[in-house]
Amino acid sequence: MKKITKIFIDPGHGGNDPGANGNGFIEKHLTLEVGLKIRDMLQEEYEDVEVRMSRTNDSFISLDRRSRMAVEWGADGFVSVHFNAASIEASGTETYMHSNSNLPGLRNNLHSSILAALRTQGTVNDRGLKRANFAVLRGTYQSMRTALTESLFLTNQRDAALLRLPGTIDAIVSGHVEGIAKEFNLKKAVVDRDTLQQGDQGVLVRQLQEDLLKVGEKLPNFGADGIFGAETTAAVRSFQQKHGLIVDGIAGPQTLTKLKEVLQKLEKEEIYLNLNSSNREELAQMFETLYNAGKLDSNEHAQKVRLGTLEKDKAIFILAKLIFEEVKPTSQVPQSSHKASWEKATRKGLFNGSNPRESVSREQLSTVLDRAGQLDTLPDKS
Ligand SMILES: [Zn+2]
Repeated sequence: MKKITKIFIDPGHGGNDPGANGNGFIEKHLTLEVGLKIRDMLQEEYEDVEVRMSRTNDSFISLDRRSRMAVEWGADGFVSVHFNAASIEASGTETYMHSNSNLPGLRNNLHSSILAALRTQGTVNDRGLKRANFAVLRGTYQSMRTALTESLFLTNQRDAALLRLPGTIDAIVSGHVEGIAKEFNLKKAVVDRDTLQQGDQGVLVRQLQEDLLKVGEKLPNFGADGIFGAETTAAVRSFQQKHGLIVDGIAGPQTLTKLKEVLQKLEKEEIYLNLNSSNREELAQMFETLYNAGKLDSNEHAQKVRLGTLEKDKAIFILAKLIFEEVKPTSQVPQSSHKASWEKATRKGLFNGSNPRESVSREQLSTVLDRAGQLDTLPDKS
């Protein structure tokens, strides 16, 4: 019989106990986000592992109850997820085991992999391996391997800035997952399936869904959630229809190959979903300019562009609308990086007059439209 490894994840605090706070962060929300992602990643990417959590929403659970839940379930591992607070100078990551425990493995593995993952994001202070008589460790350490993580200090500006960077939460999550996987010798799930269909779940399904979104298919209610349900089936069918494939809603070898082909083509055309970081920053600044000029109600577009989560269609719609509204020309010549697109846009009759630049520049808009493949769909007018 296969041995199932049982991992209990305990997101610290919750409900009327917010935990630490600083620089706009509240600990109970971060621990929950990280905890849920650890659970999902463990279950999707590793075999023979079962995960339970002390809480999956913003509710108050007593410390005593947290350890009892883990002990009664017969967990093999217990990981309590926390973020730190102290004076504003204190920073970095530290990991705990119980003062009386003689099983440091889980603590040590978590510490080194969390630190390594965080250091891919920026500078992080190593505060080292620690012991303490924390209640949740006291209640569990005699029954299973246990550890408590304090990933970063919410009260420290540099740590908080790191936490705000895209990718830091995911780095903390994967640091936890790698530490747990190493300590318990978890095996990676097999990831070479060539057919995905309704009922499937996991990292491959999520990848398929992300690819479908990139090529313009829609998953309006659930997004890329890693679960192949009716919505994903409909998106696969729509993709199959557009590309002359057998329309069965099953992502088999033909469909997956075609999807890869279409993606590669899109990447070559540099639609801005695949913009490099400096182009992405340029586009984000355009949205910020528009926001500051009072032409957009919120600044979320700039943030979404920076995170790479703004949908192509939405950006094109916003920008195209503004072109026709009131972007006025000035007498400057286009920058060389925009010249070709600007000339093409002019040729397509998108602008009156012959000068490009305004608060949000006309040649920048041309470039965005061009990269999104929109200019080539219009007939030449000059
Ligand atoms: Zn805490």
